Amino acid sequence: MLHWFRKYKRDLPFRINKNAYRIWVSEIMLQQTRVAAMLPIYEKFLERFPTPYALKDASEEEVMRYWKGLGYYSRAKNLKKGATLIVDRHSGEFPKTYEEALEIPGVGSYTASAVLSIAYNKIYAVLDGNVKRVLSRLFLVESDPSSSATERFLKTLSQEFVNPDFPGDHNEAMMELGALVCVPIPNCSACPWLDRCGAKASGKEKEIPASKVVDNWIDLDLNFLFLRSEGKLLAVKYPGRRFFKTIYSLPFRVEGKHPYENEPWLDEFFSDPGLSQNRSNARHSITNHKIRLRFCELDAKIRIDVEKKIASIPGLEWKWFDESALNEEFPSSISGKLLKLKNKLDKQRELPVGNV
Ligand code: SF4
Repeated sequence: MLHWFRKYKRDLPFRINKNAYRIWVSEIMLQQTRVAAMLPIYEKFLERFPTPYALKDASEEEVMRYWKGLGYYSRAKNLKKGATLIVDRHSGEFPKTYEEALEIPGVGSYTASAVLSIAYNKIYAVLDGNVKRVLSRLFLVESDPSSSATERFLKTLSQEFVNPDFPGDHNEAMMELGALVCVPIPNCSACPWLDRCGAKASGKEKEIPASKVVDNWIDLDLNFLFLRSEGKLLAVKYPGRRFFKTIYSLPFRVEGKHPYENEPWLDEFFSDPGLSQNRSNARHSITNHKIRLRFCELDAKIRIDVEKKIASIPGLEWKWFDESALNEEFPSSISGKLLKLKNKLDKQRELPVGNV
């Protein structure tokens, strides 16, 4: 497998040198993001924050801006907190023991094992979804890998299976195999384990791992409010809401049928007779939510009236910003989609009435 890996591995920037900080950042970014989507953001992020010191010294808002497009902003927050801990307690070097690695916010067993094995050659096996699939097939594990008993078994198996001389390469090879060859419909003819694979030998390579069909998608409408006053837009941030707990966003309301509690303070703005609702919408998804994005607009003549209304919301922070900076101030790919909808509407407004 190691020969196969050294010959066929993808040329990825976090593999160029075995720098623990760069590997840590890549592992955190890859937690819920595909490699292709993560790469351009990763390169720019490391250009701006090449060391834990640079990340520690940056403002949280700037870090969020460089994180834009990856979603799950708590990961970026944890990276910044982790960089602070690495600088303060470990002189800027990612710690070398498993226990110390686990003290870094956002670092669990998988990330600790990945960084320690790849950067420092420590003998810890990684176990992510791809590795579970490869191991289950290789060792003919037919039970559901998401059950806790099977997961424990696979964890032990992975640790026994790791190559003690090259634990980092072994882990990367297992992950690469799961990403390129031992994919859900496996390409066994290209696999270095072809002659030793339990699932292949019993003709069960497409049945293993046992799959559990989960349909837990939630359909949601998110209606964003362009609330203008004195030529600026309002952005808010507060931990009590369902989405964007850690970044500024336009105020928004969850609408339609949904399982979440409404926030009464928003109703006052959304029921204002001066509110103009745009009918166009765009699609987006966050975790298991399929989202229909819409937006509405409201001009508030007296800014202080708005501020009085929102000042009582626990933990709510707000700021006013130029509309041209929406992408930076609301660092989510949603802001780009809203701007597209908004530009479309502005163009329609410019047309003579009969052409709209
Ligand atoms: S032989 Fe096929 S099923 Fe077995 S590990 Fe390789 S790709 Fe996966």
